[in-house]
Amino acid sequence: MPRLLAESVIRDVPDFPKPGILFKDIAPVLQHPAAMAEVVDLLAGDARAKGAEVIVGIESRGFIFGAPVALALGLSFAMARKLGKLPHHRVSEEYALEYGTNTVEMHTDAIDPGQRAYIVDDLLATGGTAAAAARLVERLNGNVCGMGFLVELTFLSGRQNLLGYPIRSLIEY
Ligand code: AMP
Repeated sequence: MPRLLAESVIRDVPDFPKPGILFKDIAPVLQHPAAMAEVVDLLAGDARAKGAEVIVGIESRGFIFGAPVALALGLSFAMARKLGKLPHHRVSEEYALEYGTNTVEMHTDAIDPGQRAYIVDDLLATGGTAAAAARLVERLNGNVCGMGFLVELTFLSGRQNLLGYPIRSLIEY
């Protein structure tokens, strides 16, 4: 498969945000409109193929890629936000981090019952975040029809936490 423009510009930042983590910095993709267009096009193609009816973006880099995918397909966009950010009626799901927990939330009216939801984030690591977003969709009686990521860190086996969900990642490390 030919190398994506995005792959040639994603920057490795060692020891961020803490020692031992190799951070995949996607900011240069946003500075490169052709790379961005390629990413949005590929994720939109996968979401369309999965029959998506709503795109769910995970805060915050999932918003950057998810919103243009929704727009490209003429679909609504739903936010899965960090704890305490959403003002209206919401559902919450907690997930484990290496130390402690995090929580993501969605507005209860973000998804219609039975709707096919495609979840977008920039990067799949352990899969904990995406699994929590999937639980939110399911608590709202939506169906997760697929998940799309710009980057997958395959050595962390995130797919093991997302069994049963069709996953598309554009770049694997
Ligand atoms: P996880 O729940 O472990 O799959 O982590 C996924 C979330 O953490 C995504 O929203 C990523 O943006 C972020 N993340 C985790 N590891 C990295 C990394 N090495 N580089 C950049 N972002 C990361």
